[in-house]
Parts: sequence; structure tokens; C-alpha cells
Amino acid sequence: MTTPTLLILPGDGIGPEVMAEVRKIIAWFGDKRGMAFDVSEDLVGGAAYDAHGVPLTDATMEKAQEADAVLLGAVGGPKYDVLDFSVKPERGLLRLRKEMDLFANLRPAQCFDALADFSSLKRDIVAGLDIMIVRELTSGSYFGEPRGIFEEGNERVGINTQRYTESEIDRVARAAFELARRRGNKVCSMEKANVMESGILWREVVTQVHQADYADVELSHMYADNGAMQLVRAPKQFDVILTDNLFGDILSDCAAMLTGSLGMLPSASLGAPMENGRPKALYEPVHGSAPDIAGEGKANPCACILSFAMALRYSFDQGGEATRLEQAVESVLAAGVRTGDLMQSGDGNPASTTEMGDAVIEALNASL
Ligand code: NAD
Repeated sequence: MTTPTLLILPGDGIGPEVMAEVRKIIAWFGDKRGMAFDVSEDLVGGAAYDAHGVPLTDATMEKAQEADAVLLGAVGGPKYDVLDFSVKPERGLLRLRKEMDLFANLRPAQCFDALADFSSLKRDIVAGLDIMIVRELTSGSYFGEPRGIFEEGNERVGINTQRYTESEIDRVARAAFELARRRGNKVCSMEKANVMESGILWREVVTQVHQADYADVELSHMYADNGAMQLVRAPKQFDVILTDNLFGDILSDCAAMLTGSLGMLPSASLGAPMENGRPKALYEPVHGSAPDIAGEGKANPCACILSFAMALRYSFDQGGEATRLEQAVESVLAAGVRTGDLMQSGDGNPASTTEMGDAVIEALNASL
């Protein structure tokens, strides 16, 4: 079997700092678990602009298309705010998502027991929470035509169109069912079939895909507004939530905050399977480049480390090793190691980015 390839794009701000910790973790899995990766590193965002005048070169794009998984840190920063829109750091990330056709965005909301008091909800509602939102990412209201602001009579009208084809719904539904099989085997699909035709079609196609190929997975349907309420009322009832681009944007942010800090949130975006059966995939923390703390060794590397855990599970079929890494993070938190973002004022000295990474390595060693 050929060695799986991993393209690392640290990016800007705290991106390189958190990625340095992930590189240690990757090396650990190579040394201690015999899991070799062919790792290469390249530039994206402001770092690529500084070197090449564009936020992503064609050569890097080509490498990303060929990699078994891409792991990205973060892009952006105040230095680049004055740039033309076409070369802003964020355009590099958008190009990756678009050209790799990453239609399924996976946002887990996992609440580590040690951080349950950080949630705005009561501890017993969120402790042990582990849900996954699968959001359709390349169609729906943010892309549908017609769109624009038009003259109508003596006033203007703003128009966006919610539009989904059967094949677009079919492929993201399959992604959700596949994921559910590797987790709690339950999918709840959310739309507004009560008031939107696109929602009626969504529900029909999801049901067809389920009956044809995934009858072993438990499927339920919920109106998205009720879904939002249920996420806050009793989030642990869910395993995988499947939803469209617009509702997913809102529901995933809502679910993310159930768990506490931005520094803990990983994500994945998956596309169609490649020739070797692995999906095209980009893994990245939800947070940005945090210019306010960049270069100070204060960043929490856990979101990026947990993004690599997602890569182990969803690109490399190493669910057991992914769990090992997640449990290592959990045990570090349980032992009281905290970066500044996980502390209240007066809580004592925060761990640095490197200390947090080292603590995870120690916990991994202890897991053997
Ligand atoms: P941000 O996520 O960078 O920071 C928000 C706040 O959270 C800051 O106070 C920051 O210090 C803190 N924070 C974020 N990640 C942290 C971590 N790992 N550890 C500790 N604290 C952390 O969002 P922002 O300030 O709105 O944006 C800053 C820059 O990042 C902008 O240029 C923005 O465009 C870019 N951005 C990039 C991405 C991405 O690369 N995917 C996402 C969001 C924002």
C-alpha cells in the first residue's frame, strides 16, 4: 500500500504556531503507531501572498487536489486588510474549497467533561455531548440564481434563491449516512418542508437515499426552527444532523457554542471520493488567525489537533487512533492543563501553545 499523503498549510497568525504542535502529533503516530504519512508543507493566505503575490498558487492547488488530506491552520490578518478582494488571504481558502468541490462541511460539537462549565448551558445538558452537523456547502441560498438587488416599481427588491438539485441533496445525504455508520448510527435531517418546496424535495431525496442504501441507519426529520430549539433544549438527543447551507450555517454556530471555546473546535470539509476511495478532504480549526495573540505562544492548539483526529477517522479510516487522540486531549484537560482561552481570570498561569502540545504527547504516551 502506498503511504498516504498529507498536505499541511499552516497559513497566517497563530496558524503556524498551532500547526507546529500538530506536526509533533503526526510524528508521534509515525514513531509509536507505525502510521507513516508522506507530509509536505506549503503556503496559503497572507503567507502565500507575501511570497508569490497570490493567496494560493496553482502549484499548491494542484498538490491539494492530489493529497489524501489537506490540513490548514488559519488565514488572514490586519496586514492584509488593505489588499484587493481578489488577493485577500481568505480567497486562498475559498479557492481550495471551491476547486476541490468540498460539498459536505462537518462541524462536530463535542463537549469535554472538564470544560462543561464553560458552556452557556447547564453542565448536565452539555457534559458528554458529541454531535456532528453535516452542512451542505456548495449550493442552496448562498449560490442560487437569480440573486441581486433589482428595481421593482418605485422600490428595490433583494433576491436570493434557495435552489437544490436532487443530485446535490443525494451526495450530501450519503456523506451524512456514511458518517453516522462510524458514530451513533442516527441521522436527523433538518429543513422547512412545511413552507419551502426545496425542503419538500430535500426530505424526499433523503428518504429515498435512506431506503435504497442506508436502511440500517436510524433516520428522522425535523423542521429546522424546531431543530434550533432542540439543540439548546436537549442537544444530546442528536448524533448526526444533516442540513442545507443556510440552516447549517446557523445551526452549526449555535451547536459550536454549546461546547465553550473557539480554541477547541475542529472541522472538516469533504468532497467526492477519489480513485483510491478516500474523499477529497480539507481539515481545519474553526477559529481564525487570532492576530491579537499571534506570536505570543498563547494559542490553544487543540482545535487543530482535533482536526487531525478527524482526518485520522474520516480520511484514513483510523477511528480507533482518532479516539485515542481525542481521549488524550480530554485527559489533558481533565488534569487541569489549560491555555488562556480556557481559563477564567484569577485561575493561575495558563499553559503555552507548546506546553499544551507536549501535554497531549505525554497523554498519548500514557495511552500505550
Ligand atoms: P479569530 O477566530 O481569529 O479570533 C477570535 C478571538 O478568539 C480572538 O480573541 C482570538 O484571540 C481568540 N482565539 C481564536 N482562536 C484561538 C485559539 N486557538 N486559542 C486561543 N484563542 C483563540 O477571529 P477574528 O478575530 O474574527 O479574525 C481574525 C482573522 O482571521 C481575520 O483576518 C479573519 O478574516 C481570519 N479568519 C480566518 C478563518 C480561517 O482561516 N478559516 C476563520 C475566521 C477568521
